[in-house]
Parts: sequence; structure tokens; C-alpha cells
Amino acid sequence: MSLKNLNKFELDQRIKSLVAKERELLHEILLTIKEIDQRRLYLEYGFANLFLYLVEGVGYSAGSAQRRIDAARLLSEVPTLGEKIQSGEVKLHQVSLIQKAARDVYKTTQKKVTAEEKQELLEQITSKNFQESQKEVASFFDLPVIEATTQVIQANESIRLSLTISKELADKIQQAQALLSHTISSNDIVDYLEYVTDRVIKQKTSVRPRPQEEVTATMEVKPFSARTRKTVINKDKCCQYKDPSTGKQCGNRWFLQVDHKQSRWANGKSTVANAQVLCSQHNQMKYRQEAGFKYLST
Ligand SMILES: [Zn+2]
Repeated sequence: MSLKNLNKFELDQRIKSLVAKERELLHEILLTIKEIDQRRLYLEYGFANLFLYLVEGVGYSAGSAQRRIDAARLLSEVPTLGEKIQSGEVKLHQVSLIQKAARDVYKTTQKKVTAEEKQELLEQITSKNFQESQKEVASFFDLPVIEATTQVIQANESIRLSLTISKELADKIQQAQALLSHTISSNDIVDYLEYVTDRVIKQKTSVRPRPQEEVTATMEVKPFSARTRKTVINKDKCCQYKDPSTGKQCGNRWFLQVDHKQSRWANGKSTVANAQVLCSQHNQMKYRQEAGFKYLST
């Protein structure tokens, strides 16, 4: 069928029915993401978290992935969201407003927003536009409006960053700059950031040469020494977990831990040769699997 042959009424009908199907499909996608999330299957596929899986493994943009995660998780707490998504009364970016506000509330007050509160808010923003929803969410939680951090990559690959920080953090940075004033000659916050960053990298990765007599000492001590940890982190640099069926490596660089390839309970030694870097997610997964195996084999 050529679209050119359709008259204006038929085209109007057609797009409306396609959009309805699109919303149904979206609902099915959200249910699928929810299932993958609950079973933490992204770990087995070789990804440190659901977000990385949806971006790198499935092909969503970062924003699309985050909105779908927000919606899939809200769907677990508030099942009526499913109908509202299918009818189009609630859009994904409105769902993200609720979830982001809930995260902000938890960050500032340590209080978890309940499913009932989210349900109530969802009713309030149903059939509203984005700006109206933004106002509803802010007044519901009594949240200040904080401008998001923006990042623009420029032609020479430098990054123009615009961010909002709290008064407390600004004061802390100033105090730290004053304490470092004998080392960093300028007041420039970029110089400060570079200095602090270099220090962190050096502290976490540099290994001092081991005195000769120590080299011959037994390495069978548990757990890993600080030296072994740094050597392994320097060598591996990122999570080494690989999905056995596809060979996909996680490669995550956040929350890295040094793991015994052969576990300590199976007489694995705390040596560099028996060590690998895993992200905390994959380390936990390996631990759960080994704990199950240990349980079954004893
Ligand atoms: Zn990992």
C-alpha cells in the first residue's frame, strides 16, 4: 500500500492507530525491562547495570534508557501506570519527573517516597503537560528547583560544564583551596580539580617497590594486601567479567573490587596471579553463584 494513495482522513486515522500500537508496544517493552531488572539478567549479559545494558547492549540513547528504567520500576510499585501509558494519559518524561524527585527526596532527607505517595502524584499529573507536571511534582515534595548539570563537548574535545552546587560544597571547596594554597598557586577551580584528581589516581594506583626481603616472604596471606590490590587495579583497570556465551566483557570502571579468581574457600591464594578486578555488581553476582555452588557441593 502506498501512503500517497491515502486521503487526509485515512492518513489521520492511520497515524492515530499506529500511535496507539506504539504505546501498547512501549508497555510491553517496559514489562520486559522490569523482568530483566528483577532477575538482574544484565549482569549475566556482561553489563554492570541495567542502564549500561539498555544503552550499549540494546541501543537506546542515555535519556531514552533512563526514562524506560524509571517507568519499568514505577510499574512494579504502581501497577496502574501500565494503563495510563497505554492510553497515553501519562508520558515517560512525566514518570521520570516522579522518580527523579523521589531520588532527590531520599538524598536530602533519607526518607523513601512510598508507593502510595507515588500513586497519588501519578493521579495528579495524569493528562497534564510537562510544565504543569513539573510544578505539581515540585510542590508535592516541596523541592527547590535545581538546574541540572549540563555538559557540552567542544571542538577541541574539551568539555564545557555548567553545574549547580550547594552553598556547603562551595564553602568546602574554598576551604580546601585555601589549605592547598601553598601547592596550587591559582584560585582557578579547574587547577584545583586537576590537582585533586591526580592525587586520587596516584593514591589508588601507584605501587611502591617492595623491599627485597619481603618479596621472598610467603604470599599465602589473606586477604589481599594493599600492594596486590593496587597492582591488580593498575593491570586490569576495569571489570573483567565476561558473559561466557557471548564473550562480552563488562569493562565497568566504577566501584571496582579485587576478587579471588579461585575463591578463598576453595584454597585460592591472595596473589596477583589469582586476582582480578570486578565491579561490585559482578563481584556480588560471582559471590552469589559461588555461594550457591558451595552450598550444593557440601
Ligand atoms: Zn562488571
